[in-house]
Amino acid sequence: MSPTRRDFIKYVVAGSIASGCPIDHALVAEPAGAGSSPMVEGEHFNVCHQVRDGHSFPKPDATRKADIVIVGGGVAGLSAAYFLKGKDWLLLEKEDHFGGNAYQEDYDGHIFGTGAAYGYRGDAGDQLAKEIGLHLPLISMPDPVIDNGKYAPDIWRTGINDLPYTKDVVASFKKYRDDIMKIDFKKNAAQLDTEPFTKYLAGYAPEIMKFWDAYGPSNWGAFSEDTSALIGIADSQYLIQGLDDQRVILPGGLGCITHKLVEVLKPQHAEQMLNDATVVAVMPDKDEVCVTYAQGDKITTVAAKVVLMCTAKYITARLVAGLPGEQKQAMRRMRYAPYPMVNLIFDKPVYRKGYDNWCPGKRFTDFIVADWTIRNNPGYKPKYNILTFYTPLRESERSILLNEDDCKVLAAKVLKDFQGLLPEFNVDPVEVRLYRRGHPMFMAVPEQFTKNRMTASQPMERVFFGNSDSGGPESLTSEAVRISQAGAEWANLVLAGKPGAAELAHKALTEALL
Ligand SMILES: Cc1cc2nc3c(=O)[nH]c(=O)nc-3n(C[C@H](O)[C@H](O)[C@H](O)COP(=O)(O)OP(=O)(O)OC[C@H]3O[C@@H](n4cnc5c(N)ncnc54)[C@H](O)[C@@H]3O)c2cc1C
Repeated sequence: MSPTRRDFIKYVVAGSIASGCPIDHALVAEPAGAGSSPMVEGEHFNVCHQVRDGHSFPKPDATRKADIVIVGGGVAGLSAAYFLKGKDWLLLEKEDHFGGNAYQEDYDGHIFGTGAAYGYRGDAGDQLAKEIGLHLPLISMPDPVIDNGKYAPDIWRTGINDLPYTKDVVASFKKYRDDIMKIDFKKNAAQLDTEPFTKYLAGYAPEIMKFWDAYGPSNWGAFSEDTSALIGIADSQYLIQGLDDQRVILPGGLGCITHKLVEVLKPQHAEQMLNDATVVAVMPDKDEVCVTYAQGDKITTVAAKVVLMCTAKYITARLVAGLPGEQKQAMRRMRYAPYPMVNLIFDKPVYRKGYDNWCPGKRFTDFIVADWTIRNNPGYKPKYNILTFYTPLRESERSILLNEDDCKVLAAKVLKDFQGLLPEFNVDPVEVRLYRRGHPMFMAVPEQFTKNRMTASQPMERVFFGNSDSGGPESLTSEAVRISQAGAEWANLVLAGKPGAAELAHKALTEALL
């Protein structure tokens, strides 16, 4: 049998499942019990068992000083560095690139996203983008659904009658829409945040739950049964009211902002921005905080006056010594979804009809057109049509990401499901790229937004807790930026010995978007 083109599709697996594993432990681990350095634990799934099971790390004396150490070079860490331009900071990032969950890649000059997709006109990310010289165009299109072999536009408003379902199901969608709009979620936020979203989906057609079981995991990492009713209802009203018309982006998703931040910061601050620098311990003391990191085969401790922790809380809880018990528990209570992304690269036009296309019940939840906002630019003649597939997994499926072959199988299922959606999609890509992340998105579970987050993110005297998981109500790049802006102001107050730092941090937490 002669090989078909399908046999030659190239699968590329990138990204690291071991985001919770702070280090190549073989490098520096010393036997448990040797010295009093803090323990560093790894993920719950196989990767860092040895570390998790009891190795601790040597902690050499400080040989370097910095006023501010920023731990983690995602959008939170990079924007903190930007807001502290001209100050004595050191940014430590464990990967060989900056960007974290907002990271863009390119294929033969065609840029696509591997994580965060879009922001909103005027939000903190958009404002920062503008300040650093990026104009993010409006997406200008409500989301369609592709289900039962049909394409249906603007499903919550003008297109609700054209949903690819029976009359009864369409009537149920309309009833859900009317009922949900009657709820005052702002007034009842505290109560709604204790309830599961499923309570408000009961009694309607199952297709409605099927929609939210795509939309929820994609946007806030949780299926309906794990979602706070507050978040489900707030997002329902947001879609029904058409507030999604303020969405903005460039190719690369929100990786376009981190890419540009690196470009802006590097010329003057290259020596303050370390890659492959994995922090293994953060030890606050009265007058300073010792931050120990491994880079290559070298372990270094830097003495900082203040530290901005821009890592997710499940990592932060393992790094920072002396956390109050309740705060450490709150950090560890946070749940994170395993969330790979699959990019299908076609060398012919396949689909550019809708920006964010919902496909309930498939191996992926939705897919976006990578070059959507530039597709009509004069003179734009793309060689490739890149489609980005959102593929959030259940927590119980996280181990799929540990094995490269399992990742390829997952990517092949995404391709198969896509090709089965509409007859015109039965085209083979030239390449399939899967970017894996083990814990990239905190889940908007009950009480995370109104309670748990507030306990987890209280600053210590010299340590500020940033990262988008300090904000909410879902994982948002704009929240990472907004909280980092507050973190930079907090650092300036502490360094200057001025009062008000704790109040400022508290205000930033309470101002999280809803
Ligand atoms: C698939 C997907 C789609 C998304 N879509 C959107 C969207 O459309 N809009 C939106 O606003 N948001 C979206 N988000 C959320 C958004 O990506 C995040 O909220 C945001 O990128 C988080 O940035 P951060 O800097 O707070 O954290 P992170 O991106 O987690 O950055 C933390 C950094 O710390 C580093 N690090 C970890 N441990 C250590 C250590 N020990 N030492 C040193 N460095 C360390 C990590 O490598 C990482 O670079 C999406 C997320 C995902 C996963």
